[in-house]
Amino acid sequence: MCHINMKTIGRNTVALIVIFFSLIFATVLIQANMNDQSSTIYNVSYKNNQVGFIEDKEIMEQVINNIQLRLEYELNTSILIDDIVNILPVYKDDQVLMTEQELEDKLFNVLLYNKDDFFVKANVLSINEDTKVIVKDKETAESVLEDVKSGYLKDDTSAKVENIEFLESVDDASLFVATSSVVEKEEAVEQLKSSKDEKVTYSIKSGDTLYEIALNNDMSLADLLKINPQLQQDSLIHIGQELNLMIPKPVLSVKVQEKLTYQEDIKTPVEYKDDDTQYKSYSKVIQEGEPGIKEITSNVTYVNGLESEREIISEKIIKEPVKKIVAVGTRTLPVFGMPVYGMITSPFGSRWGSFHTGIDIGVRTGTRVKASESGTVIFAGWSGGYGYLVKISHSSGYTTYYAHNSRLYVKKGQKVSRGDVIAASGSTGNSTGPHVHFEIRKNGVPQNPTKYIY
Ligand SMILES: [Zn+2]
Repeated sequence: MCHINMKTIGRNTVALIVIFFSLIFATVLIQANMNDQSSTIYNVSYKNNQVGFIEDKEIMEQVINNIQLRLEYELNTSILIDDIVNILPVYKDDQVLMTEQELEDKLFNVLLYNKDDFFVKANVLSINEDTKVIVKDKETAESVLEDVKSGYLKDDTSAKVENIEFLESVDDASLFVATSSVVEKEEAVEQLKSSKDEKVTYSIKSGDTLYEIALNNDMSLADLLKINPQLQQDSLIHIGQELNLMIPKPVLSVKVQEKLTYQEDIKTPVEYKDDDTQYKSYSKVIQEGEPGIKEITSNVTYVNGLESEREIISEKIIKEPVKKIVAVGTRTLPVFGMPVYGMITSPFGSRWGSFHTGIDIGVRTGTRVKASESGTVIFAGWSGGYGYLVKISHSSGYTTYYAHNSRLYVKKGQKVSRGDVIAASGSTGNSTGPHVHFEIRKNGVPQNPTKYIY
């Protein structure tokens, strides 16, 4: 008997083979030269199954034709009986002879029982002229291919599928094949989705980073992320977590092209404005910004469910972003000088159950008191316990106080530079002896001057 060799069959020869096999095979073996025809009967057997004895071998062709039709009806497919029905002449003795109908019924049952030996007509799917998946008919084959495709479609309603196709060539042919090689639809879908490759994974160890894992496996971080869509570049990974290092390629690869419309934030633009009245440490948001929104339409290509390409077709601004405006100081940091040189007779801080808001510098009456830093005089005159006082306003909310003076040389509103003489020291107001009481305040709050003086 001839078996169909799936590997070597060419598509061109399919038609011929089908015709060839469509002829019923019933090899009739006849032992020649039986002398006495009247004493010869025939023993009919199939494989090792004894069927029975008949008188006239000429009925066999019709019997087998009938059985063929009955089997095809029973099995709902075209078949080839892949073995021989043996008809051996034997001498007539006391064997019980079968009628034509008895033979047909018994042989039918024997063959039906051995139906897996037949060749049945089936639909053979070839992928890239190689892998074969065999289902019972063309309709099933088409349904299998549809299922493989639709397995890669998402439920996302914002996506419009533009095209879906296989990357491999898919051919189908109607051929006689061994019954056992025909698979059910679900099994065929599984075979096409499966892969010959082993899935390669990596288990994360202590100290691993995604970047290093990619590097150690000769791929870019982008590729590693692509085959592990559950991860983002900044995802937290934990020890023992499994990463794909290679996605096995299925027998049949499905390419889906979708037109996708989605919204994306437009980053808030930030504008910095120099403020030369403020020190460099200063920064203040003048206007809060807001991100904008744009609508993007892209052609996205997926191969086996993984994005392989994204081409932006159009962008539409839904909401313009609002820029954030930040004022930043340009002046160098505040540096104050000593108004006079002398010993600090009383430091800043708690003193005798109260709080000393500045430092006292002991100097002789009449010592020249200098502006600690450039600024504008905001007070020059008598101020209770301070005696004769000068207050100068500087940038960034700083003010300086110079108290207990004997004479004042500046007026309110006057601009002064660092080092300008503003007063002569003394002991006016609440003072126990000649000294300069010096304060640095920030937004009105007394600071420890020694931390600002250079
Ligand atoms: Zn003081």
